[in-house]
Amino acid sequence: MSLLIIGSLAFDDIETPFGRSENTLGGSSTYIALSASYFTDPIRMVGVVGSDFEDGHFGLLHSKNIDTKGIKVVEEGKTFRWAGRYHYDMNTRDTLDTQLNVFASFDPHIPQQYRDSKFICLGNIDPELQIKVLDQITKPELVICDTMNFWIEGKPDELKKVLERVDIFIINDSEARLLSGEPNLVKTARIIRNMGPKTLIIKKGEHGALLFTDNGIFAAPAYPLESIFDPTGAGDTFAGGFIGHLARCGTINEAEMRKAVLYGSAMASFCVEQFGTDRINDLDLLEVEDRYQSFLDLSRIEP
Ligand code: AMP
Repeated sequence: MSLLIIGSLAFDDIETPFGRSENTLGGSSTYIALSASYFTDPIRMVGVVGSDFEDGHFGLLHSKNIDTKGIKVVEEGKTFRWAGRYHYDMNTRDTLDTQLNVFASFDPHIPQQYRDSKFICLGNIDPELQIKVLDQITKPELVICDTMNFWIEGKPDELKKVLERVDIFIINDSEARLLSGEPNLVKTARIIRNMGPKTLIIKKGEHGALLFTDNGIFAAPAYPLESIFDPTGAGDTFAGGFIGHLARCGTINEAEMRKAVLYGSAMASFCVEQFGTDRINDLDLLEVEDRYQSFLDLSRIEP
């Protein structure tokens, strides 16, 4: 199933209690696309970068069969930049700097051959851009959306307009509380689902993820890892595994969505094992299936 992804392509400066990394390739759509590439193709990316985005970066995306014709290169501009610092527990982080750069004036134009895409993933980026992309898609079958506090606080009205057109919304717990104005997550889920998305996934970092649908609530654990190196991109990698699995099987029902949550969790658990995209660049499908199996084993009663 064709999958179109819009979101940031970025260079990140990341500090964790265990190390730091500068100018690391990142961005919401980069993580989503790399993660989804293990499940489905074609994957079509829409975004913008500056002249500092090198052939090697495109090469990495191409090596995963990701179509980058929708990525505009602004020769006189600089790629989006983000800097963040993680606290000791690695579950919370401070954004130190966000420089929109070429994204500040980006007006997305969806190439003609992308307009028939069936699955649309609106990665974390300005909600106004998310709307402009949706407006150009002929007949989307499934729209998935992610966002973060930067946009919830900065463009709440635009974000609410996006949510009216979204089928599945993925957000982390603190951002869900910020958006709903309600501390309890079950009440929060009801409030957010009333904004549009029939299905909501609330990510809880090392405490796993909750899937809310008309059928009830499904809980997935997070993989208990001994060393967590860098959580950057884990949420986007989750989204990539989640939508990648759904695009691969083409069927959207409760059981496949639950499996997709476990595939998303499996991919996120790889992401945090190394800095940036390093770990999700070179996985193989067997490792992915093994980790998925480990997730099933985590809550199995019979040994
Ligand atoms: P995550 O850890 O899943 O929230 O994703 C982190 C990635 O999101 C980093 O690679 C950043 O470059 C990117 N990012 C951070 N802030 C923003 C923002 N305001 N809009 C879009 N992408 C962002």
